Amino acid sequence: MADEILSIKAAIRNVPDFPVPGVLFKDITPVLRDPGLLSTAVAALSAYVRAREAQVIAGIESRGFILGAPVAMALGIPFVPVRKAGRLPWDTIKASYELEYGTAEIEVHRDAFGPGERVVIIDDLLATGGTACAACELVERTGAVVAGCGFLIELTFLNGAAKLRRYDFESLVRFGAGE
Ligand code: AMP
Ligand code: MG
Repeated sequence: MADEILSIKAAIRNVPDFPVPGVLFKDITPVLRDPGLLSTAVAALSAYVRAREAQVIAGIESRGFILGAPVAMALGIPFVPVRKAGRLPWDTIKASYELEYGTAEIEVHRDAFGPGERVVIIDDLLATGGTACAACELVERTGAVVAGCGFLIELTFLNGAAKLRRYDFESLVRFGAGE
């Protein structure tokens, strides 16, 4: 598995100055394009979710859907979409979080989780941790429990770990500044 994780890291493409100048964007489409790498990523995230004894996966729009849904299917547990504000059709609850410039909002259906249900949040990448932290807040406001957060990538220099200190989390590959 360790070699396969290194292959995932090698396949991630750096795109400088996307979507705005100064951001080094981690493009995971080469990983998605390779069935072996994608199944390794899904298997590794599934192992984490199983270890956390999660009962539900919450995937964050939109790359968290691509990874989270196959993990839910692999484990035979439900998948819940956490979406950008205004996209879910039923009654929702909303959380705001800070972006580099301004704020953003994510939502989940009010009835998406049962009380006390153990939820693992899945997203493609942990940067500052604002998005994941807002998703954790939504889970807790429904009365469910955050069993953990799983990411394909962590940008360690942005210190998302500090923001997620109250929670268990796992990332498959880590990048330092400029890497
Ligand atoms: P943050 O809330 O700062 O942890 O940002 C995490 C979210 O923004 C994830 O959903 C990522 O998809 C996206 N994101 C942030 N920084 C990057 C980056 N350098 N490359 C790709 N996606 C990013
Ligand atoms: Mg994202």
